[in-house]
Parts: sequence; structure tokens; C-alpha cells
Amino acid sequence: MKLKLLFFLFAFTCISCSQKKETTSAAKTPKLNQYITVLGTAQDGGFPHIGCQKECCENFYNGTYKKQKVVSLGLVDLQNKQKWIFEATPDMSTQLADLEQHHLKKETIIDGVFLTHAHIGHYTGLMYFGREALGKQGTKVYAMPTMKTFLETNGPWSQLTTIKNIELLTLQNDSTIVLNKQLKVTPFLIPHRDEFSETVGYKISGSNKTALFIPDIDKWHTWKKSIIEEVKKVDYAFLDATFFNQKEVKRAMTEVPHPFIEETIDLFKNETTETKNKVIFIHFNHTNPALQKNSIEKSNAEKLGFKFALEGQNYEL
Ligand SMILES: [Zn+2]
Ligand SMILES: [Zn+2]
Ligand SMILES: [Zn+2]
Repeated sequence: MKLKLLFFLFAFTCISCSQKKETTSAAKTPKLNQYITVLGTAQDGGFPHIGCQKECCENFYNGTYKKQKVVSLGLVDLQNKQKWIFEATPDMSTQLADLEQHHLKKETIIDGVFLTHAHIGHYTGLMYFGREALGKQGTKVYAMPTMKTFLETNGPWSQLTTIKNIELLTLQNDSTIVLNKQLKVTPFLIPHRDEFSETVGYKISGSNKTALFIPDIDKWHTWKKSIIEEVKKVDYAFLDATFFNQKEVKRAMTEVPHPFIEETIDLFKNETTETKNKVIFIHFNHTNPALQKNSIEKSNAEKLGFKFALEGQNYEL
């Protein structure tokens, strides 16, 4: 009995001290002025995935894992009271709510949306700006020329522009958009299955730090630039990590080409830990062990210096 009481007291003391520790470290964290916040990490189909009754998604239905939203980054500027979102995902309504509730409250729902391409995980969230949902006027949406024409000339997206729910702004390859004195965004063309639009990645630059965002690309060698050199130029690189390795892909790789995490790790094997630390994997397919807690594959990659994006992480700019 005495032992039981001692154990209880010990456990209680530990809980209260760990709580105290958390509060102290949170209080010490300086408030960031400009930063990127991760709003989603899954591939277009999300997690759980349609039609999947296998172990990966079973972990959601049995309550072991929570839903993972589709890939998206928020760009927050507390100094100038502005916020932007990268990608209009099918989870966009809750991702915008996340920005509002946990980052910056303001009258405007969002100061701008940056689109990468016309695959379902990356633009279909625009539907929430329409008459059936938000129905407000003039939300700024930045898109490349073919992407812009695709939206203007195909229903239901065309209605968003004809009744002016959104205002489409044209981006140009390698041409920088100056958001304010502190923040700049530069789109650049990326090789990807361009059925309906071109595909871009983004460079997001702040006063102190710069990030690269390439959620979808065919294979690194199909790009005219060297991913290693591009990563070296920035502080953070959010990179396409759809599949961990070949084992996950049951269909022809030509249908869905992506660099495997294993290939990216191999490509960077002779680079310094400092360079590897910049790589933050994102855009995970439901089958990817990187989505699973306690995954050996993930922890081995982390030991080598690579990182994995998690919803709620903030990266100072
Ligand atoms: Zn995608
Ligand atoms: Zn699954
Ligand atoms: Zn895509």
C-alpha cells in the first residue's frame, strides 16, 4: 500500500514538473515576426485515403492516428498583419481556420493564395471561395499563365472569376512578387505531369531566411537545376516525399513519377549535415511510412540529418 502511494506521489510530481518545463520553454520562445507554418503534409488524396482498407489507413479508422491534411504552407507576418496560403487544398477551409485561430486574426480571410498546379490536392479548395460557401469578393489568387487560363475557361472555376469571388493575378517564371518590405515570393517551373497546367515550386524569402517549396516534381534528374545546389542556397527546403521507396508503388512509375525519399537521401549522401538538415520532407502518400508514428524508416532518415514536416511546425523567416 505504502509503495502504491509512493508511486502515485512520484508520478504526480513528474507530471507537474514536466508541465512546468513546457510552460517555461514556451514563455521563452520569442514571438516570430515572419514565419512559415505547416498546415498540411499529405499527398493530394490525403490521409486516410479513398478506397484504402489496408493497415496504413486502418490506423485512422481504429483511432490510432489522426487525419493528416493535404500539403499546404501558411505564410504569416505578425509585424505587418498579413497572411498568405500556399496551395488551395481540399482541406483549405480548416487550414484557413487554423491560420485565423492560431496565428493571425483579421477581417480578410487571406491576403493571397499561391497555387502550384492543377492537380486535385493543390487547387480544388478554391471551390470554398464560391457562392456555395464563402461567397465574398476579390480574394487574390496567384497563378501561372496556363493555370490561370485553366481556371478562367473551365467550370466550375470560371464562375469564381466571372462573379469575382477571386481575383486572379498572373505569375511569371522566376519573376519575384514583393509582398511587403520583409517578404518576397518567387515561382519557378518544375517538371511534373502537366496535364492541365504548368507546375511551379516557390522560393519564399524573408529578411533573415529563405525557404524552398517543391511539393511535386517528377524526378530530380528531370529538372534542369541541381536540387543539391538549390538546397544549399536556402535555409529550409520542403521537398516532394510522396513515396518512401519503390515498394509502395503498385502502378507504373511513369503514371506517377516522384523522387523516392530513399533516392533523395542517396543524392545527398556526400553532403554535410548542415545541408541535410535543410531538407524537410513533405507531401506524403497514405502508404508512406513517414506518416506512421515510430516508423523505423523515418527515424533512420532523421538520424542522417533529414527532417519531416509536421502540421503545426513554424519556421522563422
Ligand atoms: Zn500533389
Ligand atoms: Zn492507406
Ligand atoms: Zn501533382
